[in-house]
Amino acid sequence: MYISNMTHFLDETGNLPKEMPRQARELASFMALVVDSTTRKSPKTLASTDIRCFKKDCQGLIKSEILGKKDDIHWVCNECDNEGVISVWQGTRWDNNSGKKL
Ligand SMILES: [Zn+2]
Repeated sequence: MYISNMTHFLDETGNLPKEMPRQARELASFMALVVDSTTRKSPKTLASTDIRCFKKDCQGLIKSEILGKKDDIHWVCNECDNEGVISVWQGTRWDNNSGKKL
């Protein structure tokens, strides 16, 4: 289970830092994709995305939803046990609800 605070990946300009270990960068890019995709529709139950799971040899696709009160984003792979929660994504550049109330 990956518990991620989106702001921990960002530099002071709100972007993913250019210099970042490859694995961290891949994970951060994945999280950014999940936030972007999930906040387009803000589903309250698990909904399909076209994002590929990042586990090696997994061909699964990610499903995601917005969780209850705190609006954390929960994502799961539909093939393997890869799963996580992203918090503090609100107002990041991938937040499609920025300025709107959920
Ligand atoms: Zn997977």
